[in-house]
Amino acid sequence: MTELIRTAIPGLLAWYRVNKREMPWRDTPDFWKVWVSEIMLQQTQVETVRPYFTEFISKFPDVHSLARAEEQEVLKAWEGLGYYTRARNLQKAARKVSAEMNGQLPKSFSRLLDLPGLGPYSAAAIASIVFKEPVPAVDGNVLRVFTRLTELGDDISRPQTRTLVFGILSDVISGFPPGDFNQAMMELGAIVCKPRQPDCPVCPLNRICASHKNGTQLRFPVKKKAAVKPHHLIGVGICMREGKVLIAKRHEKQMLAGLWEFPGGKIENGETEEECILREMREETGLTVELVRKIAKTDHAFTHFSITLNAWLCNWVSGEAQPLSGSEIRWILPEELDDYPFPKANKVIIKEFRSAVK
Ligand code: SF4
Repeated sequence: MTELIRTAIPGLLAWYRVNKREMPWRDTPDFWKVWVSEIMLQQTQVETVRPYFTEFISKFPDVHSLARAEEQEVLKAWEGLGYYTRARNLQKAARKVSAEMNGQLPKSFSRLLDLPGLGPYSAAAIASIVFKEPVPAVDGNVLRVFTRLTELGDDISRPQTRTLVFGILSDVISGFPPGDFNQAMMELGAIVCKPRQPDCPVCPLNRICASHKNGTQLRFPVKKKAAVKPHHLIGVGICMREGKVLIAKRHEKQMLAGLWEFPGGKIENGETEEECILREMREETGLTVELVRKIAKTDHAFTHFSITLNAWLCNWVSGEAQPLSGSEIRWILPEELDDYPFPKANKVIIKEFRSAVK
């Protein structure tokens, strides 16, 4: 199988040279740009990443500038891109590289894996693009191309399948420019071998593709059906006191750590939104509040669950705000909200809050 695939790689590379999309991190010798882009591209589409990447690089032009930055500044630059652990890990890794490695990345796949936030895919992408190491980067696009090419029916959500594909492509890649090989496979998956509409007639691999030959493209890749995600209803209080609004910072160990939010929590069984918010405000901040009116309802999906946020404007009645369940709590002016990083779902609430208090 390896030899058959290898016969089609020159055609794939020629196709890539002509058809690759222009990207600000492509064809650069700057490891910092490649590194940042690979982290941003994890679970995120190229078009979403573009504006974030440009802003991020102009704010943090090299590894040292990110290492020196305040974490809040980094989260603010990442705000809206999601999966914030990526930003926190990127900064941890940048601090390590800046302080212990003289600002230079380790030059091998296996040593890159020691840095926070770099898994096999990102480490292979960086090692192959920047250091020309012949190691395959196996992401979702590559798995789709490979399983269609070979009609491999193994479940791609199993680590063993990834290991198997990694092993075979490790043999295929040798002798070809590794950065171009990996980017060509990924680009092919992104723009030709698409999930629902593979464009086989223009594909440079169609001559050797088993699923194209047999008309089985849409049966691959095989992936175990994901369990139904739980959905949570959340009550959120936007509490005002003397023209200021209360915000809380999420704990180090919580999801979305380091980001700010309005206090609130899950609506318990048998509880109304209103009861939930009064209880959560008491439990999370020690405040007694009175509800004014509902100002926003918004849905948001995370990887393993989804939520509906129900946000109510409220007024402070008594008590001194304390960070009982968050790590920090602040009264700020409404116009200062833009200075703090918030999760995406809170952006809708902030917009509605601004119109409500105008
Ligand atoms: S021939 Fe079709 S199914 Fe096969 S790799 Fe190309 S686009 Fe995908």
